Amino acid sequence: MVNTIETFERYRKEFPHYLEFIETLQQIVLLRNENVAAHKKDIFSLTQSDAIQKLKEGRPLINLHNDLFADQEPEKYFLKLLSITEKDHPEATAELRKTITTDENAYRDLITDLFSRKTSLAQNKNQRILNIDEHADHLDLIPLLLHESLKPFFSQLTKDLKQVIENSGWSQGICPACSRPADLSLIREEEGKRSLFCLQCDCEWPYKRMQCPSCGEEDQQKLSYFTLGDTDDKDAKYRVNICRQCQSYIKNIDTRKSKNEINPEIENLITLHLDLQAMKEGFQ
Ligand SMILES: [Zn+2]
Ligand SMILES: [Zn+2]
Repeated sequence: MVNTIETFERYRKEFPHYLEFIETLQQIVLLRNENVAAHKKDIFSLTQSDAIQKLKEGRPLINLHNDLFADQEPEKYFLKLLSITEKDHPEATAELRKTITTDENAYRDLITDLFSRKTSLAQNKNQRILNIDEHADHLDLIPLLLHESLKPFFSQLTKDLKQVIENSGWSQGICPACSRPADLSLIREEEGKRSLFCLQCDCEWPYKRMQCPSCGEEDQQKLSYFTLGDTDDKDAKYRVNICRQCQSYIKNIDTRKSKNEINPEIENLITLHLDLQAMKEGFQ
């Protein structure tokens, strides 16, 4: 994944109205890179043969709703990530930090709660799962930071088992690695092959061009899309695919229409207006 300072610089220039989001993500990426050695640790203890077996049975590698994981390193990383909310909201942050360091189940409970939700990462960041201070906007960041606290570990798992995942021929709409609903739909290459992308673990897998990732619907009458902006401007590469069978949506990025390699993480943020529009129209 392209995560250089230049990448962020380019996006900051191109999407000035999303500056605040981009800067927050840049802070996160900085901390992620600083802690890269600690993130090499295997927190899931999944053997390759178990992985092959699970995928063969159509089950994702990890489902944090049930599966256990070693929470020590992710918790440490989460406490570091809280430095991002500290500056603007010192009191609420200190309170949360205290809860996590004194109650040994607190962090794990937050993760279990987060992963029991059916919403995608893109939608999660618009919701509050903690209610420490009703008026503190920064708490919208907490779900995002909780997801981030596990991201490098999931990303490592996905990297280590890349071949196993590819060989499994996974064709579901949920992520083969972390069980979460796909966050983005991507169109790749000249023939327009489609894949789904999971922001929790940087996993990308092929998916049918005309199929709803949420319910598997393939009836073209029920699948549609909308766009915002003119078709010849920079919005042209973005679409929102919708399904009238299950009322779900997923943002679709045509990577062929981008000069540079896209960074899915940033792309997800700078297309927040598409999420808002989709939700306004009753999709989820
Ligand atoms: Zn995933
Ligand atoms: Zn559907």
